[in-house]
Amino acid sequence: MSELRYHRLPWHDEQWHFLQQAVEQHRLPHALLLSGPPGLGKEQFVLSFAQSVLCVDRDRDGVACGACRQCQLLYSGNHPDFQWLKPDEESKSGEITIEAIRSLTANASLTSHAGGNKIIAIQPAHRMNKAAANSLLKTLEEPTPGSVILLLTDQPGRLLATIRSRCQTIYFKPPHRTQAIEWLSDKVTQEDPRLLLTLANGAPLKALQLDNSELLNARKEMAKGFLQLLAGKRDPVSLARGWGAFDRVLLLEWLTGWVIDLIRLKEGGDEGGLFNRDLTQALQKTADKINSRTLHGYLLQVYAARSTVESNLNPQLTLEKLLISWCDCRTQAC
Ligand SMILES: [Zn+2]
Repeated sequence: MSELRYHRLPWHDEQWHFLQQAVEQHRLPHALLLSGPPGLGKEQFVLSFAQSVLCVDRDRDGVACGACRQCQLLYSGNHPDFQWLKPDEESKSGEITIEAIRSLTANASLTSHAGGNKIIAIQPAHRMNKAAANSLLKTLEEPTPGSVILLLTDQPGRLLATIRSRCQTIYFKPPHRTQAIEWLSDKVTQEDPRLLLTLANGAPLKALQLDNSELLNARKEMAKGFLQLLAGKRDPVSLARGWGAFDRVLLLEWLTGWVIDLIRLKEGGDEGGLFNRDLTQALQKTADKINSRTLHGYLLQVYAARSTVESNLNPQLTLEKLLISWCDCRTQAC
C-alpha cells in the first residue's frame, strides 16, 4: 500500500520533539498556541502531529506509519477525531463565529470516536470574533480529557490574553537561510531561490508560492507604478483600479517591503540587506527624492492598512487612499 503520511518539515524538529516528549510522558497540554509568521508550514506541522497522535503504529520518533486505518482516515481528510476550523469562506467579515466554536466544542464533539485523543485545529485563531473567543475560553477553562485544541496564528497579539495564558505556546521561526535554500533548491523551477526566500522574509513555503515568473513580473510592474506615482507620472486612482484584482495581503506586504527598502537606502543601509535587491536601482532613484521622516510616516499608514486587510469591507477605497497619500509624500519631498 502506498504511504499515506504527512511528512514533517526539516525545520520543525525542535517543536516536534518537544511535543513527542509530552505525548510519551502523558502530559500533552489541552491547548497549544502555534505561533509564528506565515509560510513556515504550521498547517503541515499540525497534520503530521495529528497523524502521529492518532496513528496506532507510530515509530519511536513519533512518526505515523502511514498505513493503518487511522492514518488513512486522517490523510483522506475524514478522520472523525480531527477537525479544522477556519473562517467561513462565504463570510464577508472573514471572522470565525461563536456558532462555529459552539458546534466544535459541544461536549459530544469533544469526545473521541476511536477512544484516543481528539484534535481540533483553529486557524487563523486571531480571526475569532469576540463572542467566539469568549466561548472558546470557557472550553479552555474546563477542558475535556483527551481533547487537544491547537490555535494557529501569525498575530498572537490579537488573541485575548486570557486565551493565550491558557495555552502552551509553541514558537515557529524561519529556518537558517542555508537550510531553507537547500530545501528550496530542488523545488523551485522558475526563479532564484535566494531572491524568493528574501522576498518571503525567510519563510520557505511562502518562497515556494512566489516561484512564479508571472507573479514576480507583476510585482516588478507594480513596484514601477508605485515609484512612478511619486514622480507624478501616474494617477493614483487608476493605478489602484489596475491593482484591484490582485491579492490584497500580498500586495500590501510588497508595498511594505518597497517602503522599508526606501528607508534603508535613505539611511545608508547596505544594498545586500534589501528585500527587493533586484529593484535596487529604481528604489535608489526614488529614495533620492524623498526624506526619511516622510517615509516613516507613510510606513505607519501602510501598517495600519495591513492590520485591517482581512476584515476590510472596502479594500479598494483603502488602497486608493494609500496611493493618494503616497502622492502627497511628493510635496513633502526634499
Ligand atoms: Zn498509522
